[in-house]
Amino acid sequence: MTEKEIWDKAYNRIFELYGDMPDLRIVSRFYSEKQAFMQYEVGKYFYDLFRLRGEVKQADERMIVKNTVASCFVAYLLGATDENPLPAHYYCPKCKTVEWVDEKCVFDLRNRTCACGEKMNSDGFDIPFETYLPYAKKLKVADVTDESYLALSDATFSHYQKSLLYTTNICKQLEKATGVYMDSIDLNDLAVKHRLLTGEFENLAGVGGKQVIKQMVALTSPQTYNEFLKLIGLAHGTCTWRNNAEHLLTDGVCSLADIPATRDDIFMTICEAMRDCDFHDTGFAYDVANKARRGYYLEHGMDDYTNQTLSMLGLDDWFGGFIRKTHYMSTKALAVLELKYSIILNWYQVYYPREYQQIMADYNV
Ligand SMILES: [Zn+2]
Repeated sequence: MTEKEIWDKAYNRIFELYGDMPDLRIVSRFYSEKQAFMQYEVGKYFYDLFRLRGEVKQADERMIVKNTVASCFVAYLLGATDENPLPAHYYCPKCKTVEWVDEKCVFDLRNRTCACGEKMNSDGFDIPFETYLPYAKKLKVADVTDESYLALSDATFSHYQKSLLYTTNICKQLEKATGVYMDSIDLNDLAVKHRLLTGEFENLAGVGGKQVIKQMVALTSPQTYNEFLKLIGLAHGTCTWRNNAEHLLTDGVCSLADIPATRDDIFMTICEAMRDCDFHDTGFAYDVANKARRGYYLEHGMDDYTNQTLSMLGLDDWFGGFIRKTHYMSTKALAVLELKYSIILNWYQVYYPREYQQIMADYNV
């Protein structure tokens, strides 16, 4: 398939999911991504990932694509990821009604029935696509000729093989032992939610460090998965929690919901502040987020222009201060994946404790 055909396929998928008259916000997101990414041929890359996922599934394996693909709506439309980066929403599979909600994370949404009587689907993690740009630019380097594109595919494959979390294997074993596929698990289950938000969990997926997150939970008492997601993001960053967010929260300077836990949060916070001041371009927000994520301001200090612009946009001093202390920031897409697999792990532990204990003992976790 050509790049154009792949983008057309993604576009058509919007209508399958959201009906003949999809909400303009959905179509507009598609066009924004197309404008930003088409020159980098990310479509081919996403389509490869989609096929790779299919092959892996056929072989009765599971694959976690552990990067920021979930930032791209087009990746979701092409089946390269299960995570939808649009803002959280309900949509009706029958009459295609879409309802946007204030919650930021789909896992915080309770079941809802549509006016037509059908049970609604819920989706959306509210992730901006702009944070994928540095990755998209790298992809372009490799696809000069067909040969190097193939090399990229191979490299991609081995990269993903390596980065399969131990969680994938455990979840696969849990599926076999319980007969319950992880795709069918209710990710909004309240018992599991309670367990995670109160820090009563024994295990989390990923590398954020469960002890650190337990301490964070004890200090911040998260009420929603969206807030818990912030903790996962902070645990992944460097110099984001200790002597930084931790102090802001214990001193009552700001709330957990305000804290920018990932580079995506920096970008979106500045974008929102700019919109409030009637600036609609995203370039400045992108530049600050991109520098903050790699510790540029920690190393070089923040120039007066950026500093003053952040104040002019009405952002509190602590926001700039947080950025200046940050060494590295993770992505929201990665935090979302870890949250999802943490919910899955804990779901099995709550409902199939015997099988869970057995498998964890086998893995020596
Ligand atoms: Zn309906």
